[in-house]
Amino acid sequence: MAKREEMWERLGGTVDVLIIGGGINGAGIARDASRRGLKVAMLEMNDLASGTSSASSKLVHGGIRYLEQLEFSLVFESVSERRILLDIAPHLVNPLGFLFPVYKTSRRGLTTINAGMWLYEGLSLFRSPKRHRTLNPKDIAREEPALDISNVKGAPLYYDCSTDDARLTLESAVDAAHTGAVIATWTKVTKLLRDKNQRVIGVEAQNTFTGEKKKVFGHAIINATGPWTDRTMSLGSKSAKEQRAGVLRPTKGVHLVVKREKLPVNNAVVCFHPEDKRVLFAIPWGDHTYVGTTDTDYQGDPAEVRAEREDIDYLLEVSNHHFREHQLEYDDVISTWAGLRPLVKPLGNEADMDESSVSREHQIIVGNDGLITIAGGKLTTYRKMSKEVVDTAVKLLRLSNQLPGHPLYDANTDREPLPGAQGWPADDDHERVAEQVKEVGGDNLTMESARLLANTYGMRGMDVARLVREDATLAERIDPERPELLAQVDFGVHEEFAATVTDVMERRTQLYYRSSDQGYDCCDKVGRRMQQLLGWDDARTEAQIKAYRERVDFARGWRQE
Ligand code: FAD
Repeated sequence: MAKREEMWERLGGTVDVLIIGGGINGAGIARDASRRGLKVAMLEMNDLASGTSSASSKLVHGGIRYLEQLEFSLVFESVSERRILLDIAPHLVNPLGFLFPVYKTSRRGLTTINAGMWLYEGLSLFRSPKRHRTLNPKDIAREEPALDISNVKGAPLYYDCSTDDARLTLESAVDAAHTGAVIATWTKVTKLLRDKNQRVIGVEAQNTFTGEKKKVFGHAIINATGPWTDRTMSLGSKSAKEQRAGVLRPTKGVHLVVKREKLPVNNAVVCFHPEDKRVLFAIPWGDHTYVGTTDTDYQGDPAEVRAEREDIDYLLEVSNHHFREHQLEYDDVISTWAGLRPLVKPLGNEADMDESSVSREHQIIVGNDGLITIAGGKLTTYRKMSKEVVDTAVKLLRLSNQLPGHPLYDANTDREPLPGAQGWPADDDHERVAEQVKEVGGDNLTMESARLLANTYGMRGMDVARLVREDATLAERIDPERPELLAQVDFGVHEEFAATVTDVMERRTQLYYRSSDQGYDCCDKVGRRMQQLLGWDDARTEAQIKAYRERVDFARGWRQE
């Protein structure tokens, strides 16, 4: 696979579909368009999934709470996509139990909630990962011993899925690259280029590392910049009116991560905030648990979003209210993440609507200048939204006679497995894949690391294991306390466009979230390895390590407030 630098070199000329933004939507659109046989380039100003797409609640879900808002079509669409993602990315999308406690004081009784569960499963045509059942207080105490069950009448246990949002994005982009797309990360679109009729015909792209600029032209140009949507739409537009008008109402969501022993949950536990009664989750995450999310309006620069002290207080309050024997303190918080929901502004008097009531439905907007914008939506529905965007682009290309001479293929994104799922066992036996990975890695690889590789890379875990077998030094742990290996740095650079220390620490591995010190100490090991692989000089390596530590300090800003 071409590394990031080679992708930059390949960028230029005219493509059929030019995508701005490398989040889940950009990656999904690139995959779909490229599989149809279109010439594709995708430009991402930072790393893949560095925006909202690594800051979600990491759920592939129908969104049971949208039933209350009567958004049946959104739920139906989401549960249908959940089924497809389970099929095309079984290594990354895993069934997860959700415990929904109903209290004596709950607004809705157990019978109503149960009816909602049936409706939820009905909308999935009874193809949810597992059928729900209702637990009585005794069963709840057995299932979730940490949960305070005073006043609980019962709790349905239903099933949705968890995922690794950043890797879902990454694998979609890798697949797009395998079918010929140019995936240019660390490449910022600084200007939209227009013809004499003001139609957008291309972009000016800047290499974030060198400052070099290039012009790239596209027959169809797609704005998939999530929370940056409005900024992208007005790039290069002169009128103040155009600059003010926006389609988004972004809201901020924060999660915090603690060690599992501090908050031991076996299922995602639905928690109601004691004050405003909003629904939050405590979600099991291997040897960690995360709690989230907040939902507050945000007007600032999307690049500057981070958890603030009041977000952390809000999350600790809900957790400590429901898990009374497991009181969490600031020092228990290992890491946090904050993201912006790129929600579409509701029509009418939006100020009257609270943040959580804004619809998660998506919109595809074709501007008078020809720019196609995708706004809103969910991670769960990215594949279908991407297909709709490419359908729209193809329609416009046909209308303007700009389709390539050869016929277009079916993208089949609903059937074709993502790269790590190719060869994945039909019975979804993760442990068997881990054993195969271990066998490939041989004595150099521990079973703990083999499991991590299987669950992270799916069948591509064998490729990482092969690196370890061929070079025992790559079996070194990055953080001595954790199973991530130096081989993952090599794989990240050679196969997954990793170009900075932060790319590796935060999104190729999850050391940023899971290491007790957020990888503050061990990140220099990653920097040194990248220096060897990418030919960095000492100054650049030091700058990279420093940039990573600054990133950690920035995210920990709430501790100083
Ligand atoms: P992004 O991931 O933000 O991607 C946009 C990209 O554009 C960024 O990477 C950015 O760097 C790039 N970009 C911006 N400007 C430029 C430029 N000028 N040049 C080049 N690149 C540029 N959905 C679910 O289904 N399940 C969940 O559990 C869930 N939980 C959520 C929890 C929270 C707190 C939030 C905030 C969202 C959640 N969502 C969830 C929604 C989901 O995460 C988002 O809908 C989705 O990630 C948006 O993806 P995107 O590609 O549109 O945006």
